[in-house]
Amino acid sequence: PAGANDNLSIARAARLWPIEEIAHHLDLPGEAVEPYGRGIAKIDLSAMSILSQRPRGRYVVVTSMTPTPPGEGKTTTAIGLVQGLQRLGYTATVALRQPSMGPTLGLKGGATGGGYSQVLPMERINLHLTGDLHAVGAAHNLLAAMVDNHLHHRLTPELDPREILWQRVIDLNDRALRNIVLGLGGRGNGMPRQGSFEITAASEVMAVLALADSLADLRWRLGRLIVGLDREGQAVTAEQIGAAGAMTVLLKEALKPNLLQTLEHAPALIHAGPFGNIAHGNSSIIADHIGLHTSDFLVTEAGFGADMGAERFFNIKCRTSGLVPDAAVLVVTVRALKYHSGRHQVVTGKPLPASLLAEHPEEVLEGGANLLKQIDNVRAHGLTPVVAINAFPSDHPSEYAAIHELAASAGVRAVVSTHVRDGGEGALALAEAIAEAAEDNSDFHFLYPAELPLADKIERIATRLYGADGVDFSPQAQERLDAWQHEGYGNLPVCIAKTHQSLSADPKRLGAPKGWRLPVREVRLSAGAGFVYALAGDILTLPGFSASPAATRIDIDENGETVNLN
Ligand code: ADP
Ligand code: MG
Repeated sequence: PAGANDNLSIARAARLWPIEEIAHHLDLPGEAVEPYGRGIAKIDLSAMSILSQRPRGRYVVVTSMTPTPPGEGKTTTAIGLVQGLQRLGYTATVALRQPSMGPTLGLKGGATGGGYSQVLPMERINLHLTGDLHAVGAAHNLLAAMVDNHLHHRLTPELDPREILWQRVIDLNDRALRNIVLGLGGRGNGMPRQGSFEITAASEVMAVLALADSLADLRWRLGRLIVGLDREGQAVTAEQIGAAGAMTVLLKEALKPNLLQTLEHAPALIHAGPFGNIAHGNSSIIADHIGLHTSDFLVTEAGFGADMGAERFFNIKCRTSGLVPDAAVLVVTVRALKYHSGRHQVVTGKPLPASLLAEHPEEVLEGGANLLKQIDNVRAHGLTPVVAINAFPSDHPSEYAAIHELAASAGVRAVVSTHVRDGGEGALALAEAIAEAAEDNSDFHFLYPAELPLADKIERIATRLYGADGVDFSPQAQERLDAWQHEGYGNLPVCIAKTHQSLSADPKRLGAPKGWRLPVREVRLSAGAGFVYALAGDILTLPGFSASPAATRIDIDENGETVNLN
């Protein structure tokens, strides 16, 4: 059976099809396919207008219960599902985020699936791919450089150096850059001030890239980025700094989705990778458009659990794109259900404890409250999810029976999926269930109308999805929300940055916590991306390495092949 250690050897043994062949199966206009080396192409946006005249396929989102630190397999299941759909005779494309190098070189390893459900070439995807992340970093840092230049030359509108909101980004875990002083060295070297770095995935430019639906829309959103305040406290935008045009030019290639393939040659679109807490954590709208108009099914993953990624998929991504989802997959594992029983000590960065592997169907039932709440969270948007039990070698039949019992009590279907061990063959039952679910007329609706005041939107998500009794806004947060409401930002959707390891704001509270309130200490405006986000907990926007990061083990072997990148 395939485990994490086999991922690299399975990937290496695979034979890729020429990417033109994958594009040909999608009936993509030939002139829109731009090869970028073996097995990779970009799709030019000229394809969009041709494709929009074709019928639209079914739109499927993959989400999960609240995960354990290593993750429960959304990416892997999304890949397995398209391979399963393909075996049933459908055309199916998977759309995923591009992984950030921070986690790849740090903690988690890559994010290209596992076993016989992987996207290839793994090394390229996990590292530079076609350079989109670098382009986002360059565009972001261009604006930062122009902001400091604006200060240096005292250009108008005059920025208040104490109110600069636009920071710098880097695509690495480098905690020493979290708080910096810049502009040291005297008159010729800029205006001394305090600044900071964030990881590129946390850049608002990344969220903009994921939400834009055309080059003109990208240009418009970049112009609206707020870089700081003037002396009167008024927002100053990237348009006013004069940076939005050049930023758009730097991002022109990055706006084109990357076409790759799975191990079974199903098309995969890998495009954009916004953070899942301070941003919406979903791959791009443009990739979904292209996949939906070239396939019977477009399957996309939404980061973290259904309370976070799926909520933003529905209320931010679908609201922005106007696309309506037809079905949802809720990934669960035996180990995560046992974990939510609260009987196991799990430490982030350490292997899961062996106690999680022993046969304990009663712990599965104890942890079931989390699954039931996440089912309810999908249903709150009018979709009935299919529960996908992502099978691990350590599972026991009695534990599957417990999951079936939980799903039946909620009136939803659950299927065991062995796509990691068996590829698409192992996902046939899941594919059949999703094909059926997508046929039922979806009664999709947003959780809140655009007109609902910002504070009420946050309250609605906290109480209806997280199970909070209410929200405690700090006075500053309340004041900002009131101001934005009057300044014309009241119709924006909201994004709540909280831990993904609990439905609550406390990562230690497992299951479906009751009797708690969501603390919102600060709110920020992503005027370019088009949402307001609320900080409910300590969110690190520049991770650090552990004492033993993956980068200490990644190397090349005697044949020049990369080792220990998975
Ligand atoms: P997510 O997208 O939910 O974070 P991933 O699909 O990336 O989760 O899976 C997390 C990790 O677990 C990956 O390293 C993946 O290879 C591994 N994994 C997922 N499903 C299985 C499985 N059924 N058996 C073994 N390993 C798995
Ligand atoms: Mg994933």
